[in-house]
Amino acid sequence: MVRFTVLASGSKGNSTVVSGGRTRILIDAGLSCRELFRRMKLAGEDPATLDAIVITHEHQDHVNGLAVTARKLGIPVYFTEATHRAWMRWLTPRRQMTYAQWVELCRKQAAERQAELDSPESESADCAGDPEEAEADEQLQTAATPDAEDPAPAPVSAGPPSLKEDPTWLPAVEYFQSGQPFSIGDIGLSPFTIPHDAADPVGFVCTVERVRLGFATDLGYIPPNVMQQLQNLDLLLLESNHDLEMLRDGPYPWSVKQRVLSRVGHLSNDATAEFLSSAYDGQAAYIILAHLSENNNLPELARVAAERALMGRASLLANRLLLAEQHQPLSPISF
Ligand SMILES: [Zn+2]
Ligand SMILES: [Zn+2]
Repeated sequence: MVRFTVLASGSKGNSTVVSGGRTRILIDAGLSCRELFRRMKLAGEDPATLDAIVITHEHQDHVNGLAVTARKLGIPVYFTEATHRAWMRWLTPRRQMTYAQWVELCRKQAAERQAELDSPESESADCAGDPEEAEADEQLQTAATPDAEDPAPAPVSAGPPSLKEDPTWLPAVEYFQSGQPFSIGDIGLSPFTIPHDAADPVGFVCTVERVRLGFATDLGYIPPNVMQQLQNLDLLLLESNHDLEMLRDGPYPWSVKQRVLSRVGHLSNDATAEFLSSAYDGQAAYIILAHLSENNNLPELARVAAERALMGRASLLANRLLLAEQHQPLSPISF
């Protein structure tokens, strides 16, 4: 069975579980580890069964709980190389280390971890019961402030460095490239480039047991390559970030409004509706509107714009339109 569970979507955190066959992955880890685990349990997903975390881009609302969650579960994180580097820069703004030196350090640490694999510890997948991790989670969220201390060098032989010593340490890192499909267990992923103001942002089409799940948020507009990717899907999760009038009349400073509206910002309800009414093939059984702004949008505005766009398309009558939420998980969607 294939299951798709949006744990959170919006500027305060994004995270989705894709599971199928014997594999379970988290796309983005934008909530604290504690909150991610709480929501997974609410949605009937066991955090301990996650196999990997896949990151779309390095913005805070997509990576907030990343290091703590990956460490806690001892699972690999998949990034593009540019996104990984940008994430590390974000966490260690004053680190005096070249990229080549860092890669060398990672190699050494990987060799040490390999040696330790002979005696694996069984880790509890419960953030709530671990005050040190909870504290570390908070430290991570403030690590990018100018007052953050330079991390001390990692100890050579005493296991993984603590978050304080090296907030960028992960149990394992795997690189993928946009345009190059790869697999994690039973789940196939096709990453594609999206226009957004991050180092190397991507959307995904996940293929699990022949079910195709399309995933695109955080994009300023929908270029032809993305339109091509978002066809022939069983489920489409697509950004519907803001209502243009609410954004224009809303509280954001002009520079922020300009950024959101730009070609590397976020999709408006109108832009999403335009795609749904024209270029979209209408195949998906589920359409999930996602990354709705809490300040510049209303769920009903996003819903009505999408419904109007889909209206009159007979093939879409049986489809379901859902709205992803910021503060609670959506019910899991099964195929
Ligand atoms: Zn975002
Ligand atoms: Zn973003």
